[in-house]
Amino acid sequence: MKIGLICMEEDRTLAYAASELKAYLERMLEGAGAAVSIGETPPAGVGAGARPGDDLTISLEVTAASDIRNDHFDIEIRPEGGRIAGNYARSVLIGVYYYLYRLGCRFPGPGKDLELVPELTDVGRLYLSYSHTASYYHRGVCIEGADSLENALDFIDWLPKLGFNTCFIQFQVPYTFFARWYHHENNPLLEPETFTVRDAAVCSDIMTEELKKRGMLLQAVGHGWTGESIGIPSVDWNAGDIRLTERQRRMLAKVGGKRELFHGVPMNTNLCYSNPEAAEAFRESVVRYAASHPDVDYLHVWLADACNNLCECDACAGSVPADQYIRLLNAIDEKLSAEGIGTRIVFLLYQELLWPPVTERFKNPDRFVLMFAPISRSFNSAYRADGELPPVPEYVRNRVTLPVDPGQNLAYLRAWQEHFAGDSFVFDYHLGRAHYGDLGYVHISRIIHDDIARLGQLRLNGHISCQEFRAGMPNFLPNYVMGRKLFDIDSDFEETVGEYYQAAYGSGWEEVLACLTELSELSDCDYFNGIGPRTDPAVAERMRRARAVTERFAGSGYFAEKPESAPQARFWEMLRYYCEYAVYLEEALGRLAAGQTDGAKKSWTRFMDTIRENEGRFQPYLDVYRICEISRNFTGFR
Ligand SMILES: [Zn+2]
Repeated sequence: MKIGLICMEEDRTLAYAASELKAYLERMLEGAGAAVSIGETPPAGVGAGARPGDDLTISLEVTAASDIRNDHFDIEIRPEGGRIAGNYARSVLIGVYYYLYRLGCRFPGPGKDLELVPELTDVGRLYLSYSHTASYYHRGVCIEGADSLENALDFIDWLPKLGFNTCFIQFQVPYTFFARWYHHENNPLLEPETFTVRDAAVCSDIMTEELKKRGMLLQAVGHGWTGESIGIPSVDWNAGDIRLTERQRRMLAKVGGKRELFHGVPMNTNLCYSNPEAAEAFRESVVRYAASHPDVDYLHVWLADACNNLCECDACAGSVPADQYIRLLNAIDEKLSAEGIGTRIVFLLYQELLWPPVTERFKNPDRFVLMFAPISRSFNSAYRADGELPPVPEYVRNRVTLPVDPGQNLAYLRAWQEHFAGDSFVFDYHLGRAHYGDLGYVHISRIIHDDIARLGQLRLNGHISCQEFRAGMPNFLPNYVMGRKLFDIDSDFEETVGEYYQAAYGSGWEEVLACLTELSELSDCDYFNGIGPRTDPAVAERMRRARAVTERFAGSGYFAEKPESAPQARFWEMLRYYCEYAVYLEEALGRLAAGQTDGAKKSWTRFMDTIRENEGRFQPYLDVYRICEISRNFTGFR
């Protein structure tokens, strides 16, 4: 059988979609003796048709003048010919991956070695008619944790396979995320490698290139403007030995009577936003960046990344932070418009900016996208879209406490929505810290699923996950559920989980699911995340039981069976390793919660030793830097 693929216009993303479809079809149809080729793009105005010499011609095309905003594709493949069409080139690529999924391919983790590509002996299975519009517009992830360039590129490659359309490269240069890995922070057993800010810029360019090749949306920056705009580099959260000029000092926020870097960290330092010189520097910095980065589709303009450190000078204290923020944003918009720059600006509801504006309003709301970032929320339960919300407490400058309860968090969102009705999404942290507290990853996947199901009712148009890319222990179910649910709100949790486990483990998957579900039921994401008392007998008892469950499973016969494919062998290997170190973590958590500080430290050290020694073997799946940092700074291991 001869299959011909034709791109209906010259477009690098369509060309990439065709090359991907060719590569997978060739692998799948190898035994059936099929040949797949990519034909020449026809001249403009010439429609698709069966190509002479092909048994089946499939055209890839972007449908003109679609009024659908969310990614949409039509797959129509019949014996007389076929097409995969989408409203954007990336929608065609997403459609290609969806087609492959329907043909039996599975993508249960980032990286080619985790992909399952079945053999297709019956060419009759190639025929399919299916259309779909993604349920939300913004569907993506934001880089956090400690990453190699390969980790980032594997993740980008994985995103459209799950239906995601967006990647957020954080900061002007994403130095800290790569430097943590290449310097092997928190893993003294690995020899640090040289890695500079310039290297990070190269990584960022390569990521951007890979995203644009796929037609993906690029979001960028976030924090860091406050320092960068007055000439203080802000590429990480570290305190540096920085000598301030007088000019820089007078533009900094006055906190406790002093204008200085907040605990020495530029990223966490606010400016005196009522100072016209500081406001102008901030505006210029954003406009210059937008002008020189046309690839950035959504530019995040946030203030400092810390709380209760706003300027207390008389002029600043006269406004709530959100009013000062909107004044800055309106000034940025005005300059961008004057320069003909269309970049969308994302503004942030976070920390003191959770409190809504009082007097200021956006002059050009279409420029802006609201981003709700409930960083202090609980992950033990999902958002509720019904019921009364509590009132928003009064704002007192530099005396705020952040909300934990999901309902209290939503009260702030609702208050802002009374002032802004434009585009929006949530920036959430399921896979940023709390996920380490879920020992089976079934619970956090369920929370992700339920939260995403309710986004529409919360009047939010998507979800960007602020997360570790290496969040794959015991498996990558959370990201898989996230992508599928954002793409199709009607997807069913149990079905997605069953499909995932069958793909990852093959025979024996039900037993793995039963074990990891039990571990999830015994877990407490909030405890790991530092929420609640550190001594907690109920947590101690549950960790004792979790350890017994893990030991029982590790000693069972399931690992003796021969996996059916190389990717499944890898998933079983990951699971065996997981059981090996999880018992130390469960023991450490149990002892910590029982108030046995010395014993907890001993178990935690064994846990850390194990994952450090094995990081080379399991690098893409567990972020040793991050789990160490969280368990020290939040959970309470010292
Ligand atoms: Zn001030």
